[in-house]
Amino acid sequence: MSENRILFTGGRVFDGTGAPAVPADVVVRGDRIEAVRPGGGSAIEDGDQVVDCAGTTVMPGMVESHAHLTFPSAVGHIDPSFNPPLDVSFFRHMPTPDEHLAIVKRNAKILLDHGFTSAYSAGSLTPVPTEVWLRDQIAAGATPGPRLRAASFERDNNPVQMGPDGPKPKRTGPDAVREFIREQAAIGFDSVKLLMSNDDVFVEGGSMITQYSREEAQAAGEQARESGVWLNCHAQAPESIKLAVRSGFRSVYHCTYADAEAIDLLEEHRDSIFLSPAVGIMWANVHEGAEYGIDTATAEKMGSTRALRAMSALYPELRKRGLRVLPGGDYGFPNNPIGRNARDLELFVRLFGYSPAETLRAATQYGGQVMDLPVGLLTPGYLADLLVVRGEPAEDVSVLQDTGNLLAIMQNGAFHKLSGQLPTA
Ligand SMILES: [Zn+2]
Repeated sequence: MSENRILFTGGRVFDGTGAPAVPADVVVRGDRIEAVRPGGGSAIEDGDQVVDCAGTTVMPGMVESHAHLTFPSAVGHIDPSFNPPLDVSFFRHMPTPDEHLAIVKRNAKILLDHGFTSAYSAGSLTPVPTEVWLRDQIAAGATPGPRLRAASFERDNNPVQMGPDGPKPKRTGPDAVREFIREQAAIGFDSVKLLMSNDDVFVEGGSMITQYSREEAQAAGEQARESGVWLNCHAQAPESIKLAVRSGFRSVYHCTYADAEAIDLLEEHRDSIFLSPAVGIMWANVHEGAEYGIDTATAEKMGSTRALRAMSALYPELRKRGLRVLPGGDYGFPNNPIGRNARDLELFVRLFGYSPAETLRAATQYGGQVMDLPVGLLTPGYLADLLVVRGEPAEDVSVLQDTGNLLAIMQNGAFHKLSGQLPTA
């Protein structure tokens, strides 16, 4: 316990539980939170670094629950070739492995710069284990970025595999699914992602097509438990959601067209399941795609218009049922670049009926739970991942979208950012 302390004094503290922000001091020692003192007034000891947080909110670092750091577009670095998604033309513009490493490093830093101190991946763009490398580099302190849970390449269940050399046959069936999961676990991924449903982006009507059989989904669940990895899935069709829940998937994405039975099933499993609607990309396709070729007709054809409407009806209900629904989703496209992730929080408030404090809890406490790490709460013993934010994000989450309001970003007890606007002594 020889490390010096860092005291965040005089601010309001949102601790991540959803309780209102209250005046309090936060004390950090080493990489951990040592104390949170409501009312403030901490005694200052020799060697303490004091950060005067008057007029600010101290809160846990945010967690992106559906990250794609291997996607090419980030704020300030737009790659228009990664669009339109209708014809997956981006696979013809794949960067070399070295270029891809540079892209993911850049993306990771941008996400951290925007206040996300952890990220749970929702799938790699290619079968190359770039994310495993990135996760380990970040953990070693060799490159800045959010703590990462790495996810495999997204497996569809087509009997034909498209690749750079054209189509070739692919095995399906329970044994093939088991083999894929064993391989990804052996490579070192934390989770494996299956496309349980197809998507309108890939094939007309695809969002309502369930791609895996019951036997295959069950085999996936069994193998994942055996191999010690988590299962994530893209699921829009009602059957695909039910299969995923019944087979032990941990993160279920989108859930767009959940029917009454799927909603009841999700509620039954609410203590073991995490949901990420990924509403950001739907919003961006419907409202902000024109510049990149996604006009109104294209957004309709991609299913985005229908999906946005369906989600706006579904998620207020899932909120009432007590599901853990997390902000984040599909940032990495030109009209939805990495770095804009905090906008998801505003969409939870505007479209899903969440209060700002509920949304912030989802982005912090629930984020820590999906990471399965002691992050996302300001409480003694937790890792010191925190933000000092100008304003009151627990009243207005939109302040988090302006990096100028992120006066400090701390990860592991070390400052990634400390604005000169914050008086320190
Ligand atoms: Zn995604």
